[in-house]
Amino acid sequence: MEFETVIGLEIHAQMKTRSKIFCGCSTEFGAPPNTHVCPVCLGMPGVLPVLNRQVVENAIKLALATELTINRENRFARKNYFYPDLPKGYQISQFELPIAEHGRVEIEVDGARRWIGITRAHMEEDAGKLIHAEHEPESYVDLNRAGTPLLEIVSEPDLRSPDEAVAYLKKIHAIVRYLDISDGNMQEGSFRCDANISLRPMGRQEFGIRTELKNMNSFKNVQLALEYEVRRQRDVLLDGGEVVQETLLWNPDKNRTEPMRGKEEAHDYRYFPDPDLPPVFIDEEWIERMRASLPELPDPRRQRFMTAFDLPAYDAGILTASRELADYFETACATYDQPKKLSNWIGTELLREYGPERIGECPVRPESLARLLIMIEEGAISGKIAKTVFAAMLESGTEPDVIVKEKGLVQMSDEGALQALVQEIVAVNPAQAQQFRDGKTKVLGFFVGQLMQKTKGQANPQIANKLFRQALAAGPE
Ligand code: ADP
Ligand code: MG
Ligand code: ZN
Repeated sequence: MEFETVIGLEIHAQMKTRSKIFCGCSTEFGAPPNTHVCPVCLGMPGVLPVLNRQVVENAIKLALATELTINRENRFARKNYFYPDLPKGYQISQFELPIAEHGRVEIEVDGARRWIGITRAHMEEDAGKLIHAEHEPESYVDLNRAGTPLLEIVSEPDLRSPDEAVAYLKKIHAIVRYLDISDGNMQEGSFRCDANISLRPMGRQEFGIRTELKNMNSFKNVQLALEYEVRRQRDVLLDGGEVVQETLLWNPDKNRTEPMRGKEEAHDYRYFPDPDLPPVFIDEEWIERMRASLPELPDPRRQRFMTAFDLPAYDAGILTASRELADYFETACATYDQPKKLSNWIGTELLREYGPERIGECPVRPESLARLLIMIEEGAISGKIAKTVFAAMLESGTEPDVIVKEKGLVQMSDEGALQALVQEIVAVNPAQAQQFRDGKTKVLGFFVGQLMQKTKGQANPQIANKLFRQALAAGPE
């Protein structure tokens, strides 16, 4: 029996704002526990929340970038539940009237492009954090995070495989980072997701019973957890059993999902409009101002890279994975006019060391990489030496010309100087020379290799090839 996988994601993106959503406390990560708190985010009685305008602006930007319809009037609701990291006993979120609904983004998996529906996006506050100290009977509460603004983005159950789920997650991640509304830092938990997953027999309309994988904060864990859950649910169903609707946690050490709690329903939360906060009104003028401030987004930028730089879709996709990387590429292109060669270098040598998110930390400026490639083009260094030079550039950020000069790496293109070495190598390898004359021209590579060894890779390969062909064709002396 064949099953179809159905997945829907709830993404929580911590918004980039200096202060919290309903008070003036700092949102800075990593401060000593309970230092960024005030009566509002501590949930003291009698205090009043005041909405941070930046949070609304960030949400509007996301809505515009993902074709969500903005609710001109939307409002906050209380989601009631008890947990020690939630002093008020309720979380301020949005429920029946979120800021935006009915959007979509396009994803690509194995060359196939598909639109994935977005049900809604809403603004809410984060809770605090519990710290369970090892070997201690007590737990601690840190409320620095309480009241940090979040944007929750809920997808339709449109995803059909773990690969699609990860592609979607990466797409939303790229969009919030392009928009600069979230730093997307997954290690610090500022971009995390809950994945809902079910299986149904192929061809059936009705969805199966789902489980919910909570709080995953790396693309790899999302992939592994979903793949695990597909196998687990499949086994249950093939055994004639029923999947239990429950909340699970992914245990990356044991490579399995583990039950966390039974699944709660919306009515368990007793949502109701928060009487402390007036409805949020968004007028056309505000939306248009936000629209005008949008940067070029990943998909249009990828399209433009394909046409303007004549790049394959694959390259364009990689180069636009982050705004920083796309900017890096464009800056380098301004002085080096071979986009495909540049893309190859970035795709291998650069991205091997610095992922798309970390380009900002790379000590090699785009202009310097361009200069390095121009030096290859001009014949000053070989492509092979260039890799050595680039490794040195990554270490120190030094300009390529300086490294080539200091290390004496200039390419040997002087035929006279190489000729003597070529003759010598041919003379001491008579067997291989004979092979060449017998038509095994592949052996040329052996000779060039010998020369490269003698010149520490500095011989100009084109000239080396030419000289060996001449010397070998001339026959034994
Ligand atoms: P809640 O988690 O609060 O119960 P929803 O019912 O709105 O919320 O669903 C949350 C997410 O689960 C959405 O992304 C939705 O697409 C997805 N989802 C709903 N039903 C299923 C299902 N049967 N299989 C997989 N995903 C589902
Ligand atoms: Mg949920
Ligand atoms: Zn506060």
